Amino acid sequence: MIEAGPNHSSAKSGHLRGWIARLILIWNVLVPIPALVLFLRGEWLVAVLLLGSAHWPWLWATLKPGCTWWGPVVTQTGTVGEVWLTIDDGPDPTDTPQILDLLEARGAKATFFLIGKKAAAHPDLVREIIRRGHEVGNHTMNHFAGSFWIRGPGVVRREILDANDVLSPLMEGQNIRWFRAPAGLRNQWVHPVLMEAGLELAAWSSRGYDGVSADSDTVVSRVLQTMKEGGIVLLHEGRLSNSGDRLILRVLPRVLDEIAAKGWRCVIPR
Ligand SMILES: [Zn+2]
Repeated sequence: MIEAGPNHSSAKSGHLRGWIARLILIWNVLVPIPALVLFLRGEWLVAVLLLGSAHWPWLWATLKPGCTWWGPVVTQTGTVGEVWLTIDDGPDPTDTPQILDLLEARGAKATFFLIGKKAAAHPDLVREIIRRGHEVGNHTMNHFAGSFWIRGPGVVRREILDANDVLSPLMEGQNIRWFRAPAGLRNQWVHPVLMEAGLELAAWSSRGYDGVSADSDTVVSRVLQTMKEGGIVLLHEGRLSNSGDRLILRVLPRVLDEIAAKGWRCVIPR
C-alpha cells in the first residue's frame, strides 16, 4: 500500500540520523592529527585510509542528493496516480510565461524552485506563478551551483534566508514550504537553517540532466526512463537546446503527454 503525501522520516530515524551526522563531523575533526602523525612516520597508506574513513562519509552525505544523514530529504511523494513536477532555476522572462500556458492547457500544477536574484528582477512572474495556482519554492539567492556545498554556515544561511526575504512578499499570502539546494548538493550547515525558516528539503526521483545536456530527445528519454507514480520530476527552465530553441518548451510537452498517457496527474503535494 502506497501512502499519500511526501515521505517523512520517523522520530526514531531522525534520532539515528542526528547521531550519524555527529559521528561523521567528530571523526572529521579528530582524524587529521593521527593521520598526520602516521604520514610523518612513513605510513602514508594507513594515513590516507584513515583520512578517507572520515571524508568519504562526509562527501556521500553532502553530494548524494537523496542522502538523509544531514537531515530529512523528500525524494518521492508516494502518491498513487500522481507526479510532483518541479521546475528549477527560474523565473525566466521567456520560458516561465509559456510554461504556465502549457501547464494550464493540460490542467497540470507544478512547483517552481526560484532563484532569489532572478525573482527580484522579475517579481511579476513570481506573482503570476502563484496566481495561476502553482507553488514557489526556495532555490537560494544566487544559486552557487558549483560551490554551495562547500560554503560555510554564514553564506549558507544568507543564501537561504535572503531568497526567502525576496520571495515571501510576492507569495500572495502563501507560505514557502520547500527548499531545493543548487544541484541538490548541501552540507551539514543547511538543515539547521531550514528548521529555523520552517522549510523542508526536496530532492527528486527523476531527471533528464537538462542542466548539462542540450539535446531534448536525450533529456526526455532520461526523464521517462525513471519517471514513476508518486515520484518527483526535476526540469530546468532558462536553457537552450542544441538547435537554439528553448529546451524546456521542447521537453515539457512530451513529459506531460506521457504523464497523461499513463493516466497520472501533476499535483503539488499538500
Ligand atoms: Zn538549480
